[in-house]
Amino acid sequence: MDTGKGKLTEEKPFTEAENRFTEEKGRGTDFLVPYARSNIDRCKCSQCPVQGDSKCAKDKLQSSGEAMKIMPEGEVPNPEDVPGIYCSTGKATCQDLNFDRQCICSTCEVWKEYGLEEVDPNNHFCHHGRAT
Ligand code: SF4
Ligand code: SF4
Repeated sequence: MDTGKGKLTEEKPFTEAENRFTEEKGRGTDFLVPYARSNIDRCKCSQCPVQGDSKCAKDKLQSSGEAMKIMPEGEVPNPEDVPGIYCSTGKATCQDLNFDRQCICSTCEVWKEYGLEEVDPNNHFCHHGRAT
């Protein structure tokens, strides 16, 4: 779901749980897109044709969606349980994606907020790895 526009980072600091994952993953590197609920919620990967026929991604989408509904505010699921936000977490763990199909990252507010077109105009972060 699109929840807003603009620099959420400045308006609402990331929570301890969000920062923990971001720091663990990004240690020693430039971590461009924080692994945060505000970014997970805006990610378009769940609607992407690349994952359209992936049973693995659909199962993860359902289970992570249910988990997030009952999760305390500020908590985030384990990154490997979320079939999206690959610009932050890196390559997909599901093996049944079709990378020949078009990536829809350019329709995403996270893509726009973090200027990802400059970083990786070919996108398919699920295939090539996260944005750095
Ligand atoms: S840019 Fe792509 S991978 Fe990153 S949050 Fe948006 S749709 Fe997901
Ligand atoms: S990173 Fe791009 S290609 Fe991969 S699932 Fe997300 S929108 Fe689709």
